Amino acid sequence: LNRRLAAFGTTIFAEMSALALKTGAINLGQGFPDTDGPEEVREAAVRALRDGRGNQYPPGPGVPELRTAIADHQQRRYGLSFDPDTEVLVTAGATEAIAASLLALLEPGDEVVALEPYYDSYAACIAMAGGTRVPVTLRPHQGRYVLDLDELRAAVTPRTRLILLNTPHNPTGTVLTREELAAVAALAVERDLLVITDEVYEHLVFDGEHIPLASFPGMRERTVTISSAGKTYSFTGWKVGWITASPALVTAVRSAKQFLTYVSAGPFQYAVAEALRLPEMYFTALRDDLRAKRDLLSAGLADAGFEVYRPAGTYFVTTDIRPLGETDGFAFCRALPERCGVVAVPNAVFYDHREQGAPFVRFAFCKQKDVLDEAVTRLRRLA
Ligand code: PMP
Ligand code: GLN
Repeated sequence: LNRRLAAFGTTIFAEMSALALKTGAINLGQGFPDTDGPEEVREAAVRALRDGRGNQYPPGPGVPELRTAIADHQQRRYGLSFDPDTEVLVTAGATEAIAASLLALLEPGDEVVALEPYYDSYAACIAMAGGTRVPVTLRPHQGRYVLDLDELRAAVTPRTRLILLNTPHNPTGTVLTREELAAVAALAVERDLLVITDEVYEHLVFDGEHIPLASFPGMRERTVTISSAGKTYSFTGWKVGWITASPALVTAVRSAKQFLTYVSAGPFQYAVAEALRLPEMYFTALRDDLRAKRDLLSAGLADAGFEVYRPAGTYFVTTDIRPLGETDGFAFCRALPERCGVVAVPNAVFYDHREQGAPFVRFAFCKQKDVLDEAVTRLRRLA
């Protein structure tokens, strides 16, 4: 393994899911739903497979039906207009979108300002691209993880090429407010920075609203917006993601993407095109269901003695284990399956400043209600 990647080892998600399998514990570690997405979308995939749509290499930018559906979704939901031919690119999940964007836009030595804690692939992809990460730490304050805008401004140097944003934010569940996003946008414009914004949880917002960064003045031309069918439609295994951006940025990202995967998931692209056209009711029901699950798990964790940071979005809840007399999230998560039959993820893996994340642990609530009830029953044994 080369020096760029040596620090990263195995992702925590694989490690913790393997631990769940080995111990038979309830897996609230890796974030994936335990029920599949809508029947009609699965049927659409089957039809595409049977009809031979997408069984051979689809077009490099993605099938036109999906690109058009993505552009329509951005228009309908956010009033953002993107040309499906030049401003939309389909990727192998958001993961490839992140990798291709960083590989395409960074020169070796460029600095990337990223929120910390961060989704684990950010650090690895910045490293693969030869960039340097400059983390800005979100800090717990009155029950929410907050971005300090002064710290963000101070992190930008003449070597900064781009800001890597994520809202709704994994793992903290923070949804950046209009004011916070406006400040990020103003900074990007003032310092002439690009922004890659990971908005895969755009539909999973329980309090407040998701506002795309690309909708702020001056941002449309300098923003790569990333999303994915994995979260919104509960098909994490399909690996259909996308970016929307200006023609110049889409062309750049496509240059990297074509040599990573070239294309992906032909029949699933047709199915996701149909998913994006589901009635508004679908999105409301998904959100309401997850909101109830957030409340259930948050209340259960609080009863069990954790300090809970109630998430405004995503399907993760971050907790502080210090009220339980614990300080090391890693040790806690490794012992948890034996102690009470539940798997969680230590937030420290999402930090450069590991000590900042040490006492925090993330639980996923994208699980069936009876699974969460049972998990809560088990976690109460810790109290
Ligand atoms: N970004 C964030 C913030 C995520 O949480 C995830 C999934 N865990 C991804 C990107 C990756 O998405 P995909 O599965 O579509 O590659
Ligand atoms: N995004 C999911 C999470 O944060 C997992 C993705 C993965 O396993 N790579 O849990």
